[in-house]
Amino acid sequence: MKDSFGREINYLRLSITDRCNLRCVYCMPMRGLSFVPGDELLSPLEIEAVVRAAAETGFRKIRLTGGEPTLRNDIVHIIERIKSVEGIKELTMTTNGYLLPKLAKPMADAGLDRVNIHIDAVNHDQLLKTMRLAEPSKAWAALAAAEEAGLTPIKLNAVVTRGYNEDDVHELARLTLDHPWHVRFIELMPLGAPAGIALDNLVSTAETIALIEAQLGPIFPLNGGALDGEARLYRLPGAEGTLGFISPVSAPYCDDCNRMRVTADGKIRLCLLSDQEIDFKNTLRSGASHKDLIALFQKAVTHKPWGHKLKEGVHPKLRTMSQIGG
Ligand code: SAM
Ligand code: SF4
Repeated sequence: MKDSFGREINYLRLSITDRCNLRCVYCMPMRGLSFVPGDELLSPLEIEAVVRAAAETGFRKIRLTGGEPTLRNDIVHIIERIKSVEGIKELTMTTNGYLLPKLAKPMADAGLDRVNIHIDAVNHDQLLKTMRLAEPSKAWAALAAAEEAGLTPIKLNAVVTRGYNEDDVHELARLTLDHPWHVRFIELMPLGAPAGIALDNLVSTAETIALIEAQLGPIFPLNGGALDGEARLYRLPGAEGTLGFISPVSAPYCDDCNRMRVTADGKIRLCLLSDQEIDFKNTLRSGASHKDLIALFQKAVTHKPWGHKLKEGVHPKLRTMSQIGG
């Protein structure tokens, strides 16, 4: 289905919990957050109903996210329910990976296609500083488990934060020399309570590229510099993997946006960086029919705003990234 600006909207990101076992500096405050009570989170059957309505509206790709999606103890069942929906071509997950040694195989068997694993640094101190509560050995075990379960190609996500991990971006880039991984560097976005850190500590894509090139030499654009999803891809000479740069602040890609989100408390969020939302869960729980749910998605696609206004200093206040899922 096309939105009112002619963009094909076919990618839905589902935040299935707002809880997390880490507290990344730019995502979740250490204290003071309240979480959606367990019975307010969508159940596997409700998630299937969301996805069925979304599939009928034209959504073809689903990404599970959070908070940390693997903290749901019914995660394998959720994957099975989504895979039962006709029309869904790809099911992926964004995770910090800490539970992958236990879950990668059952999730892959249930139909998960691949994972993006979030790791902000190779250097231990910088990893701990950025992804508070992190355990470096768990991050590496996550990558090994995902590879062994065939959840490939693996993408690594790193959010670059001045004063925290920007000195280590070249070490993350270096990983692509010997691994077929896609390491993606994400510009900080200001959302909710931790917005201050994003506004003060942004490292632009141009600077991240300069930091990598200063240590490892020139990197080369792929695809003629065109966007691949939301990333522009590069490669180090002779590398097995690629480098991706996601630049929502310095080079917004709103004109290519194909996505929409469902928050952990069951609202359709029309744009990551705008607080416009449409309730889904209450409608679903008050006995709505499949047709009613499709109508909600159609309304959401029709009302999707053009893009964000970060450059004008407008940023969303309602939620943290952990409640939306990135
Ligand atoms: N816990 C999982 C993880 O960390 O991958 C999934 C949820 S997390 C909210 C999804 C993605 O959002 C992460 O990969 C992280 O890189 C990104 N993220 C979180 N806060 C961000 C911020 N303020 N700006 C940019 N990206 C952010
Ligand atoms: Fe947790 Fe992911 Fe947010 Fe980090 S980015 S605090 S791992 S939800």
